[in-house]
Amino acid sequence: MVEDLNDGKRLDYDVAVIGGGIQGVGVAQAAAAAGYSVAIFEQTGIASATSSKSSKLIHGGLRYLESGQFRLVRKSLLERERLIKLAPGLVKPVSFYIPIYISTSRQAWQIGVGLFLYRILGSFKKYTRFKRINISKNRTLPIKGLLNKNLKTVYQYYDAQTDDRLLTQAVMHSAQSLGATLYCPAKVTQLDIKDGCYTIQTENAQPEADRINAKFIVNVAGPWVNEVLAKVTGTAVNMLEYDLVQGTHIVIDAPAPEGVVYVEAPQDKRAVFIMPWKNKTLIGTTEKIYSGDPAKVVATETEIEYLKEIYTYYMPQQKVNVVDTFAGVRVLPKQATSLFSRPRDTVLHCSAKNLLTLYGGKLTSYRATAELVMKKFGSSLPAKKVVTDKSTRNIHLV
Ligand SMILES: Cc1cc2nc3c(=O)[nH]c(=O)nc-3n(C[C@H](O)[C@H](O)[C@H](O)COP(=O)(O)OP(=O)(O)OC[C@H]3O[C@@H](n4cnc5c(N)ncnc54)[C@H](O)[C@@H]3O)c2cc1C
Repeated sequence: MVEDLNDGKRLDYDVAVIGGGIQGVGVAQAAAAAGYSVAIFEQTGIASATSSKSSKLIHGGLRYLESGQFRLVRKSLLERERLIKLAPGLVKPVSFYIPIYISTSRQAWQIGVGLFLYRILGSFKKYTRFKRINISKNRTLPIKGLLNKNLKTVYQYYDAQTDDRLLTQAVMHSAQSLGATLYCPAKVTQLDIKDGCYTIQTENAQPEADRINAKFIVNVAGPWVNEVLAKVTGTAVNMLEYDLVQGTHIVIDAPAPEGVVYVEAPQDKRAVFIMPWKNKTLIGTTEKIYSGDPAKVVATETEIEYLKEIYTYYMPQQKVNVVDTFAGVRVLPKQATSLFSRPRDTVLHCSAKNLLTLYGGKLTSYRATAELVMKKFGSSLPAKKVVTDKSTRNIHLV
Protein backbone atom coordinates (compact mmCIF):
# COMPACT_ATOMS: atom_id res chain seq x y z
CA MET A 1 0.00 0.00 0.00
CA VAL A 2 1.45 3.41 -0.98
CA GLU A 3 0.48 6.59 0.82
CA ASP A 4 1.43 10.20 0.20
CA LEU A 5 1.70 11.92 3.57
CA ASN A 6 2.05 15.64 4.34
CA ASP A 7 5.67 15.69 5.40
CA GLY A 8 7.10 14.39 2.15
CA LYS A 9 6.92 11.19 0.20
CA ARG A 10 6.52 8.16 2.48
CA LEU A 11 5.50 4.63 1.86
CA ASP A 12 3.70 2.56 4.47
CA TYR A 13 3.91 -1.20 4.85
CA ASP A 14 2.72 -3.75 7.36
CA VAL A 15 6.06 -5.54 7.40
CA ALA A 16 9.61 -4.46 6.58
CA VAL A 17 12.17 -7.20 6.15
CA ILE A 18 15.84 -6.22 6.48
CA GLY A 19 18.15 -8.55 4.55
CA GLY A 20 17.81 -10.33 1.22
CA GLY A 21 19.36 -13.67 2.15
CA ILE A 22 17.34 -16.90 2.20
CA GLN A 23 15.75 -16.08 5.58
CA GLY A 24 14.71 -12.60 4.47
CA VAL A 25 13.18 -13.64 1.16
CA GLY A 26 11.46 -16.56 2.93
CA VAL A 27 9.82 -14.20 5.42
CA ALA A 28 8.88 -11.77 2.63
CA GLN A 29 7.25 -14.60 0.66
CA ALA A 30 5.29 -15.95 3.65
CA ALA A 31 4.15 -12.47 4.74
CA ALA A 32 3.05 -11.52 1.21
CA ALA A 33 1.21 -14.85 0.85
CA ALA A 34 -0.53 -14.10 4.15
CA GLY A 35 -1.85 -10.87 2.66
CA TYR A 36 0.42 -8.32 4.32
CA SER A 37 2.02 -5.41 2.49
CA VAL A 38 5.74 -6.15 2.56
CA ALA A 39 8.93 -4.22 1.80
CA ILE A 40 12.28 -5.98 1.74
CA PHE A 41 15.59 -4.11 1.95
CA GLU A 42 18.87 -5.56 0.74
CA GLN A 43 22.09 -3.55 0.88
CA THR A 44 24.09 -5.34 -1.84
CA GLY A 45 22.23 -7.98 -3.84
CA ILE A 46 19.87 -10.91 -3.24
CA ALA A 47 21.91 -13.83 -1.81
CA SER A 48 25.09 -11.78 -1.92
CA ALA A 49 26.24 -12.92 1.56
CA THR A 50 25.98 -16.27 3.39
CA SER A 51 23.14 -17.52 1.21
CA SER A 52 25.46 -18.00 -1.77
CA LYS A 53 28.40 -19.34 0.24
CA SER A 54 26.85 -22.44 1.82
CA SER A 55 27.59 -26.11 1.11
CA LYS A 56 24.44 -25.98 -1.08
CA LEU A 57 22.83 -28.91 0.68
CA ILE A 58 19.16 -29.24 1.46
CA HIS A 59 19.61 -31.83 4.13
CA GLY A 60 18.40 -33.15 7.43
CA GLY A 61 21.91 -32.83 8.85
CA LEU A 62 22.93 -36.38 9.75
CA ARG A 63 25.75 -35.15 11.96
CA TYR A 64 23.38 -33.07 14.14
CA LEU A 65 22.11 -36.36 15.54
CA GLU A 66 25.38 -36.62 17.46
CA SER A 67 24.59 -33.40 19.31
CA GLY A 68 20.98 -34.46 19.94
CA GLN A 69 19.35 -31.89 17.63
CA PHE A 70 16.51 -34.28 16.74
CA ARG A 71 13.88 -31.59 16.30
CA LEU A 72 16.02 -29.68 13.82
CA VAL A 73 16.81 -32.87 11.90
CA ARG A 74 13.14 -33.84 11.70
CA LYS A 75 12.08 -30.38 10.59
CA SER A 76 14.87 -30.22 8.00
CA LEU A 77 14.07 -33.68 6.62
CA LEU A 78 10.41 -32.76 6.15
CA GLU A 79 11.42 -29.46 4.53
CA ARG A 80 13.85 -31.31 2.26
CA GLU A 81 11.01 -33.57 1.09
CA ARG A 82 8.76 -30.56 0.53
CA LEU A 83 11.36 -28.53 -1.38
CA ILE A 84 12.13 -31.45 -3.68
CA LYS A 85 8.43 -31.33 -4.65
CA LEU A 86 8.01 -27.53 -4.74
CA ALA A 87 11.25 -26.73 -6.55
CA PRO A 88 12.23 -29.82 -8.56
CA GLY A 89 14.38 -27.72 -10.90
CA LEU A 90 16.31 -26.24 -7.98
CA VAL A 91 16.41 -28.90 -5.26
CA LYS A 92 17.56 -32.31 -6.44
CA PRO A 93 17.98 -35.53 -4.46
CA VAL A 94 21.51 -36.85 -4.55
CA SER A 95 23.19 -40.00 -3.29
CA PHE A 96 25.50 -39.60 -0.32
CA TYR A 97 28.26 -42.09 0.41
CA ILE A 98 29.94 -42.58 3.78
CA PRO A 99 33.11 -44.66 3.43
CA ILE A 100 34.22 -46.36 6.62
CA TYR A 101 37.88 -47.26 6.97
CA ILE A 102 39.77 -49.08 9.70
CA SER A 103 40.84 -45.65 11.00
CA THR A 104 37.38 -44.01 10.87
CA SER A 105 36.41 -42.90 14.37
CA ARG A 106 32.70 -43.63 13.93
CA GLN A 107 32.04 -47.37 13.70
CA ALA A 108 29.91 -48.87 10.93
CA TRP A 109 27.18 -49.83 13.38
CA GLN A 110 27.04 -46.24 14.69
CA ILE A 111 26.53 -44.90 11.18
CA GLY A 112 23.87 -47.57 10.60
CA VAL A 113 22.01 -46.57 13.77
CA GLY A 114 22.30 -42.88 12.79
CA LEU A 115 20.88 -43.54 9.33
CA PHE A 116 18.02 -45.58 10.78
CA LEU A 117 17.20 -42.72 13.14
CA TYR A 118 17.40 -40.35 10.16
CA ARG A 119 14.85 -42.57 8.41
CA ILE A 120 12.52 -42.55 11.42
CA LEU A 121 12.78 -38.76 11.80
CA GLY A 122 12.07 -38.42 8.08
CA SER A 123 8.85 -40.44 8.56
CA PHE A 124 10.12 -43.25 6.28
CA LYS A 125 9.54 -41.08 3.24
CA LYS A 126 11.00 -41.85 -0.17
CA TYR A 127 14.44 -40.32 0.27
CA THR A 128 15.08 -41.81 3.71
CA ARG A 129 16.14 -45.18 2.29
CA PHE A 130 19.73 -46.22 2.90
CA LYS A 131 21.90 -49.26 2.40
CA ARG A 132 25.25 -50.71 3.30
CA ILE A 133 27.32 -51.54 0.23
CA ASN A 134 29.41 -54.68 0.44
CA ILE A 135 32.95 -53.96 -0.57
CA SER A 136 35.05 -56.78 -1.94
CA LYS A 137 38.14 -56.82 -4.12
CA ASN A 138 36.10 -57.89 -7.14
CA ARG A 139 33.54 -55.09 -6.99
CA THR A 140 33.96 -51.57 -8.30
CA LEU A 141 33.62 -48.79 -5.77
CA PRO A 142 30.50 -46.57 -5.92
CA ILE A 143 32.80 -43.53 -6.24
CA LYS A 144 35.48 -43.66 -8.91
CA GLY A 145 38.96 -43.02 -7.54
CA LEU A 146 37.98 -43.31 -3.85
CA LEU A 147 40.73 -44.52 -1.54
CA ASN A 148 40.38 -48.30 -1.38
CA LYS A 149 43.08 -49.16 1.19
CA ASN A 150 41.65 -50.27 4.55
CA LEU A 151 38.11 -49.54 3.37
CA LYS A 152 35.70 -51.67 5.39
CA THR A 153 32.32 -50.65 4.04
CA VAL A 154 30.33 -47.81 2.46
CA TYR A 155 26.88 -46.57 3.45
CA GLN A 156 24.67 -44.95 0.83
CA TYR A 157 21.74 -42.68 1.66
CA TYR A 158 20.02 -39.58 0.22
CA ASP A 159 19.96 -35.86 0.83
CA ALA A 160 19.54 -33.03 -1.70
CA GLN A 161 21.60 -30.35 -3.43
CA THR A 162 20.64 -26.91 -4.63
CA ASP A 163 22.14 -23.76 -6.06
CA ASP A 164 21.70 -21.58 -2.97
CA ARG A 165 21.86 -18.30 -4.91
CA LEU A 166 19.27 -19.42 -7.48
CA LEU A 167 17.00 -20.81 -4.76
CA THR A 168 17.11 -17.51 -2.87
CA GLN A 169 16.40 -15.56 -6.06
CA ALA A 170 13.47 -17.88 -6.88
CA VAL A 171 11.91 -17.31 -3.44
CA MET A 172 12.40 -13.55 -3.94
CA HIS A 173 10.61 -13.70 -7.30
CA SER A 174 7.80 -15.64 -5.67
CA ALA A 175 7.50 -12.99 -2.92
CA GLN A 176 7.40 -10.23 -5.56
CA SER A 177 4.74 -12.04 -7.55
CA LEU A 178 2.68 -12.12 -4.33
CA GLY A 179 3.06 -8.34 -3.98
CA ALA A 180 6.26 -7.78 -1.94
CA THR A 181 8.36 -4.74 -2.90
CA LEU A 182 12.14 -5.12 -3.11
CA TYR A 183 14.46 -2.19 -2.42
CA CYS A 184 17.95 -3.11 -3.60
CA PRO A 185 20.52 -1.79 -3.22
CA ALA A 186 19.16 -0.21 -0.07
CA LYS A 187 21.17 -0.28 3.12
CA VAL A 188 19.09 0.36 6.24
CA THR A 189 20.93 3.07 8.16
CA GLN A 190 18.38 4.03 10.81
CA LEU A 191 15.20 2.68 12.39
CA ASP A 192 13.20 5.21 14.41
CA ILE A 193 10.19 4.13 16.43
CA LYS A 194 7.45 6.65 17.11
CA ASP A 195 3.81 6.08 18.01
CA GLY A 196 4.23 2.34 17.58
CA CYS A 197 5.46 2.63 14.00
CA TYR A 198 8.99 2.31 12.60
CA THR A 199 10.43 4.76 10.10
CA ILE A 200 13.22 3.21 8.06
CA GLN A 201 15.98 5.29 6.57
CA THR A 202 18.18 3.91 3.87
CA GLU A 203 21.12 4.81 1.72
CA ASN A 204 21.72 3.85 -1.92
CA ALA A 205 17.97 3.44 -2.33
CA GLN A 206 15.68 4.86 -4.97
CA PRO A 207 14.58 8.40 -3.95
CA GLU A 208 10.99 7.28 -3.27
CA ALA A 209 12.32 4.83 -0.67
CA ASP A 210 13.92 7.62 1.29
CA ARG A 211 11.77 7.13 4.37
CA ILE A 212 9.43 4.18 4.69
CA ASN A 213 7.10 3.33 7.54
CA ALA A 214 6.36 -0.18 8.76
CA LYS A 215 4.38 -1.57 11.66
CA PHE A 216 6.55 -4.66 12.11
CA ILE A 217 10.27 -5.15 11.42
CA VAL A 218 11.88 -8.50 10.77
CA ASN A 219 15.65 -8.19 11.11
CA VAL A 220 17.23 -10.95 9.02
CA ALA A 221 20.53 -9.27 8.29
CA GLY A 222 22.54 -12.47 8.82
CA PRO A 223 26.00 -11.66 10.21
CA TRP A 224 24.95 -7.99 10.52
CA VAL A 225 21.84 -8.48 12.73
CA ASN A 226 23.24 -6.73 15.78
CA GLU A 227 24.66 -3.95 13.59
CA VAL A 228 21.08 -3.32 12.41
CA LEU A 229 19.81 -3.31 16.00
CA ALA A 230 22.41 -0.67 16.84
CA LYS A 231 20.64 1.65 14.38
CA VAL A 232 17.33 1.64 16.28
CA THR A 233 16.35 4.86 18.03
CA GLY A 234 13.36 5.68 20.22
CA THR A 235 13.28 2.39 22.11
CA ALA A 236 15.62 0.09 24.00
CA VAL A 237 16.65 -3.04 22.11
CA ASN A 238 18.00 -6.26 23.47
CA MET A 239 20.35 -8.41 21.49
CA LEU A 240 21.84 -11.86 21.77
CA GLU A 241 25.58 -12.36 21.67
CA TYR A 242 26.90 -14.58 18.93
CA ASP A 243 30.03 -15.86 17.27
CA LEU A 244 30.68 -15.57 13.58
CA VAL A 245 32.03 -18.84 12.27
CA GLN A 246 33.82 -18.88 8.94
CA GLY A 247 33.34 -21.77 6.56
CA THR A 248 35.38 -22.10 3.36
CA HIS A 249 34.90 -24.24 0.26
CA ILE A 250 37.21 -24.93 -2.66
CA VAL A 251 36.24 -25.92 -6.19
CA ILE A 252 38.71 -28.12 -8.01
CA ASP A 253 38.95 -28.97 -11.65
CA ALA A 254 38.45 -32.70 -11.15
CA PRO A 255 35.55 -34.75 -12.60
CA ALA A 256 32.44 -34.47 -10.42
CA PRO A 257 32.08 -37.51 -8.13
CA GLU A 258 29.02 -39.75 -8.67
CA GLY A 259 27.47 -38.44 -5.46
CA VAL A 260 28.40 -36.58 -2.31
CA VAL A 261 31.18 -38.31 -0.38
CA TYR A 262 30.90 -37.66 3.32
CA VAL A 263 34.37 -38.14 4.80
CA GLU A 264 36.18 -37.71 8.05
CA ALA A 265 39.08 -35.24 7.76
CA PRO A 266 42.26 -37.25 8.45
CA GLN A 267 43.77 -34.20 10.23
CA ASP A 268 41.10 -33.65 12.93
CA LYS A 269 38.24 -36.12 12.28
CA ARG A 270 35.79 -33.34 11.29
CA ALA A 271 33.03 -34.22 8.83
CA VAL A 272 33.73 -32.80 5.35
CA PHE A 273 31.86 -33.14 2.04
CA ILE A 274 33.36 -33.88 -1.38
CA MET A 275 30.56 -32.96 -3.77
CA PRO A 276 29.70 -32.78 -7.46
CA TRP A 277 29.27 -29.14 -8.49
CA LYS A 278 28.75 -27.90 -12.05
CA ASN A 279 30.81 -30.78 -13.53
CA LYS A 280 33.62 -30.08 -11.06
CA THR A 281 34.29 -31.03 -7.44
CA LEU A 282 33.38 -28.90 -4.44
CA ILE A 283 35.01 -29.56 -1.06
CA GLY A 284 34.02 -28.07 2.27
CA THR A 285 33.71 -26.83 4.79
CA THR A 286 36.07 -25.49 7.41
CA GLU A 287 34.97 -24.01 10.72
CA LYS A 288 36.78 -21.23 12.56
CA ILE A 289 35.83 -18.17 14.56
CA TYR A 290 35.83 -15.01 12.45
CA SER A 291 36.13 -11.54 13.90
CA GLY A 292 36.47 -9.27 10.86
CA ASP A 293 33.98 -7.51 8.61
CA PRO A 294 31.56 -10.18 7.29
CA ALA A 295 31.65 -8.53 3.86
CA LYS A 296 35.38 -9.18 3.62
CA VAL A 297 35.57 -12.85 4.56
CA VAL A 298 37.84 -14.82 2.18
CA ALA A 299 39.32 -18.29 2.07
CA THR A 300 42.69 -18.41 3.83
CA GLU A 301 45.73 -20.34 2.55
CA THR A 302 45.57 -22.60 5.63
CA GLU A 303 41.95 -23.52 4.91
CA ILE A 304 42.68 -24.17 1.23
CA GLU A 305 45.60 -26.44 2.14
CA TYR A 306 43.49 -28.27 4.74
CA LEU A 307 40.74 -29.00 2.17
CA LYS A 308 43.24 -29.97 -0.53
CA GLU A 309 44.88 -32.46 1.86
CA ILE A 310 41.51 -34.09 2.58
CA TYR A 311 40.78 -34.46 -1.11
CA THR A 312 44.24 -35.87 -1.89
CA TYR A 313 43.91 -38.34 0.96
CA TYR A 314 40.57 -39.74 -0.20
CA MET A 315 41.03 -39.34 -3.97
CA PRO A 316 44.74 -40.18 -4.27
CA GLN A 317 44.74 -40.52 -8.06
CA GLN A 318 43.21 -37.15 -8.84
CA LYS A 319 45.12 -33.94 -9.45
CA VAL A 320 44.21 -30.98 -7.26
CA ASN A 321 43.83 -27.83 -9.28
CA VAL A 322 41.88 -25.24 -7.29
CA VAL A 323 39.82 -23.11 -9.68
CA ASP A 324 37.62 -21.27 -7.19
CA THR A 325 37.18 -20.67 -3.48
CA PHE A 326 34.43 -19.06 -1.45
CA ALA A 327 33.86 -18.34 2.21
CA GLY A 328 30.83 -17.41 4.29
CA VAL A 329 30.11 -16.79 7.94
CA ARG A 330 27.41 -18.36 10.01
CA VAL A 331 25.85 -16.86 13.10
CA LEU A 332 26.04 -19.13 16.13
CA PRO A 333 24.50 -17.71 19.32
CA LYS A 334 27.06 -17.92 22.13
CA GLN A 335 27.07 -21.04 24.29
CA ALA A 336 29.60 -22.85 26.41
CA THR A 337 29.81 -25.77 23.97
CA SER A 338 32.15 -26.52 21.07
CA LEU A 339 31.39 -24.97 17.68
CA PHE A 340 30.64 -28.46 16.36
CA SER A 341 27.86 -29.14 18.86
CA ARG A 342 26.30 -25.65 18.99
CA PRO A 343 22.60 -25.74 18.03
CA ARG A 344 22.15 -24.87 14.33
CA ASP A 345 18.46 -23.96 14.43
CA THR A 346 17.28 -20.38 14.00
CA VAL A 347 16.70 -18.38 17.18
CA LEU A 348 13.73 -15.99 16.93
CA HIS A 349 14.37 -13.16 19.34
CA CYS A 350 12.08 -10.27 20.22
CA SER A 351 14.50 -7.29 20.23
CA ALA A 352 11.85 -4.62 20.92
CA LYS A 353 8.12 -4.24 20.45
CA ASN A 354 7.27 -5.33 16.91
CA LEU A 355 10.91 -5.93 16.10
CA LEU A 356 11.88 -9.55 15.62
CA THR A 357 15.50 -10.63 15.02
CA LEU A 358 16.49 -13.98 13.53
CA TYR A 359 19.86 -15.41 14.57
CA GLY A 360 21.48 -18.28 12.68
CA GLY A 361 19.62 -21.11 11.01
CA LYS A 362 19.77 -23.34 7.98
CA LEU A 363 19.16 -22.73 4.31
CA THR A 364 17.12 -25.95 4.36
CA SER A 365 14.57 -24.82 6.93
CA TYR A 366 14.01 -21.24 5.70
CA ARG A 367 10.35 -21.88 4.81
CA ALA A 368 9.50 -23.49 8.16
CA THR A 369 11.25 -20.58 9.92
CA ALA A 370 9.16 -18.08 7.96
CA GLU A 371 6.01 -19.91 9.08
CA LEU A 372 7.10 -19.42 12.71
CA VAL A 373 7.72 -15.73 12.05
CA MET A 374 4.11 -15.35 10.83
CA LYS A 375 2.93 -16.61 14.23
CA LYS A 376 5.01 -13.90 15.94
CA PHE A 377 3.04 -11.14 14.20
CA GLY A 378 0.20 -12.15 16.54
CA SER A 379 -2.01 -9.22 17.45
CA SER A 380 0.57 -6.64 16.26
CA LEU A 381 -0.84 -6.87 12.78
CA PRO A 382 -4.46 -7.39 11.81
CA ALA A 383 -5.24 -10.79 10.30
CA LYS A 384 -5.30 -10.49 6.52
CA LYS A 385 -7.16 -12.29 3.83
CA VAL A 386 -4.59 -14.41 2.02
CA VAL A 387 -3.84 -13.11 -1.47
CA THR A 388 -3.47 -16.63 -2.72
CA ASP A 389 -5.40 -19.76 -1.98
CA LYS A 390 -2.06 -21.39 -1.32
CA SER A 391 0.30 -21.21 1.58
CA THR A 392 4.06 -21.43 1.08
CA ARG A 393 3.57 -25.17 1.68
CA ASN A 394 2.12 -25.33 -1.81
CA ILE A 395 3.73 -22.50 -3.76
CA HIS A 396 6.01 -23.85 -6.47
CA LEU A 397 9.35 -22.21 -7.15
CA VAL A 398 10.84 -21.82 -10.61
C1 LIG B 1 30.05 -22.32 5.23
C2 LIG B 1 28.57 -22.50 5.41
C3 LIG B 1 27.95 -23.62 4.87
C4 LIG B 1 26.59 -23.80 5.03
N1 LIG B 1 25.99 -24.87 4.44
C5 LIG B 1 24.67 -25.06 4.57
C6 LIG B 1 24.04 -26.13 3.88
O1 LIG B 1 24.66 -26.88 3.13
N2 LIG B 1 22.70 -26.29 4.08
C7 LIG B 1 21.98 -25.48 4.89
O2 LIG B 1 20.79 -25.72 5.05
N3 LIG B 1 22.55 -24.40 5.50
C8 LIG B 1 23.87 -24.18 5.35
N4 LIG B 1 24.46 -23.10 5.94
C9 LIG B 1 23.63 -22.14 6.66
C10 LIG B 1 22.97 -21.17 5.68
O3 LIG B 1 23.81 -20.89 4.59
C11 LIG B 1 22.64 -19.87 6.39
O4 LIG B 1 21.90 -20.16 7.53
C12 LIG B 1 21.80 -18.94 5.55
O5 LIG B 1 22.36 -18.74 4.28
C13 LIG B 1 21.68 -17.61 6.28
O6 LIG B 1 20.82 -16.80 5.57
P1 LIG B 1 20.44 -15.36 6.09
O7 LIG B 1 19.37 -14.85 5.22
O8 LIG B 1 20.17 -15.41 7.55
O9 LIG B 1 21.79 -14.50 5.99
P2 LIG B 1 22.55 -13.88 4.69
O10 LIG B 1 22.46 -14.77 3.51
O11 LIG B 1 23.89 -13.53 5.19
O12 LIG B 1 21.69 -12.60 4.38
C14 LIG B 1 21.72 -11.42 5.15
C15 LIG B 1 21.52 -10.28 4.19
O13 LIG B 1 21.29 -9.08 4.93
C16 LIG B 1 21.84 -8.00 4.19
N5 LIG B 1 22.02 -6.86 5.09
C17 LIG B 1 22.83 -6.79 6.16
N6 LIG B 1 22.73 -5.56 6.75
C18 LIG B 1 21.84 -4.86 6.01
C19 LIG B 1 21.31 -3.53 6.11
N7 LIG B 1 21.71 -2.67 7.07
N8 LIG B 1 20.41 -3.12 5.19
C20 LIG B 1 20.01 -3.95 4.18
N9 LIG B 1 20.48 -5.22 4.04
C21 LIG B 1 21.37 -5.67 4.95
C22 LIG B 1 23.15 -8.59 3.67
O14 LIG B 1 23.66 -7.87 2.55
C23 LIG B 1 22.76 -10.02 3.34
O15 LIG B 1 22.43 -10.19 1.98
C24 LIG B 1 25.82 -22.87 5.77
C25 LIG B 1 26.45 -21.74 6.31
C26 LIG B 1 27.80 -21.53 6.12
C27 LIG B 1 28.46 -20.31 6.65
